[in-house]
Amino acid sequence: MPVTRTSEAADTLAADTDVLRRQDPELAEILLAEGERQATTLQLGAAENFTSPAVLAALASPLANKYAEGYPGARHHGGCAYADAAERLAADRARQLFGAGHANVQPHSGSSAVLAAYAALLRPGDTVLALGLPYGGHLTHGSPANFSGRWFDFAGYEVDAETGLIDMARVRALARARRPRAIVAGSIAYPRHLDWAAFREIADEVGARLIADAAHPIGLVAGGAAPSPVPYADVVCATTHKVLRGPRGGMILCGAELAERVDRAVFPFTQGGAQMHTIAAKAAAFGEARTPAFAAYAHRVVANARALAARLGEEGLTVVTGGTDTHLLLVDPAPLGVDGREARGRLAAAGLVADCCALPRAGARGLRLGTAALTTQGMGEGEMERVAVLLTDALRATRDAVAARAAVGALAAAFPPYTASRGTMVATRKSPTVCAHR
Ligand SMILES: *Cc1c(COP(=O)(O)O)cnc(C)c1O
Repeated sequence: MPVTRTSEAADTLAADTDVLRRQDPELAEILLAEGERQATTLQLGAAENFTSPAVLAALASPLANKYAEGYPGARHHGGCAYADAAERLAADRARQLFGAGHANVQPHSGSSAVLAAYAALLRPGDTVLALGLPYGGHLTHGSPANFSGRWFDFAGYEVDAETGLIDMARVRALARARRPRAIVAGSIAYPRHLDWAAFREIADEVGARLIADAAHPIGLVAGGAAPSPVPYADVVCATTHKVLRGPRGGMILCGAELAERVDRAVFPFTQGGAQMHTIAAKAAAFGEARTPAFAAYAHRVVANARALAARLGEEGLTVVTGGTDTHLLLVDPAPLGVDGREARGRLAAAGLVADCCALPRAGARGLRLGTAALTTQGMGEGEMERVAVLLTDALRATRDAVAARAAVGALAAAFPPYTASRGTMVATRKSPTVCAHR
């Protein structure tokens, strides 16, 4: 893999990875190139973010060596005193942060959390209601390619083709018709707050459990920038690596009465040994998420998403639901003469990294964008306007490719995700409050 390192960010990472470079230059080059890619392009993916140096340090800590099957105080391995302490710290912080009766911080990913939630509450063959996959449901919400679609009988509700909004009256009608054992509320692409109370009411009416899959908004919930599903759902599944800005992983929140069922559903039913270094990193992320600085960050993420949506609308793109309440927006580039897949390619060529995603319009694909990573880098609403212009220029191919890529690179260089410090791993990332320009 040919790698050219030109940027300061890459030099920083080069200093940080001296050991790796000596031991395994081949792998080191790959990791340095990825660091450079992240620092020289703009990450508009709605599911991505930049973790803090503390989170990265925990991931690279001695707990990476530790086997710890079971739960604190009841492990199948010896030497678990500090593993227990780390897991208790993570779970205590999660419970406090979200006001939950119980937290399980072991799920390896968001999908693992959903699998365990189903295992705790359902039997194979049960009927489950969830947002249909073409409308923003996740693979774990009944895709035939996923365990969920194979083991359960999923009925999909939809978003309205015109408004892009979930019509709760139709969810209620479907629930009455299908009498599901559980209703899943959550999406990979819904830009608005979900009405948790309305979902609860419908679940109660038909005697169903309510599973909130809050993988996306949980970071906003932590920062007080989105309504919490915790008071309404029987079980809340989440990731820790999206807006929440922790390590890649999952978690489950529930009331004390479901604690034992949820714990057994995670281990030993669906997982083996917990990833203790990741759990330590989750503790670090929860510690950061309870600070006023994180609350300010979460609110800035939403303000930035709204600014980006507004400007993209002015530039002629169709913004699904007309805007956003959250960190993510779904846009249809069709008015500029490109579909979602073509759009993603044009953006990538300009150094703008985004995902393409199904649109409510039958068969159409659009772009799913998010502001979590850009906001961590310190960008504000002024920069969102610049990003919107760079994005629409790239879609229209108004400038030559080299100039477009250079303009994106210049903006990225002004907001490095991690700043230089010799000898320590990405040691002094500007804290978002310090580096926010607004
Ligand atoms: C991201 C996401 C998941 C899965 O998370 P992974 O960690 O990728 O397994 C599940 N559900 C929803 C709604 C998501 O957005």
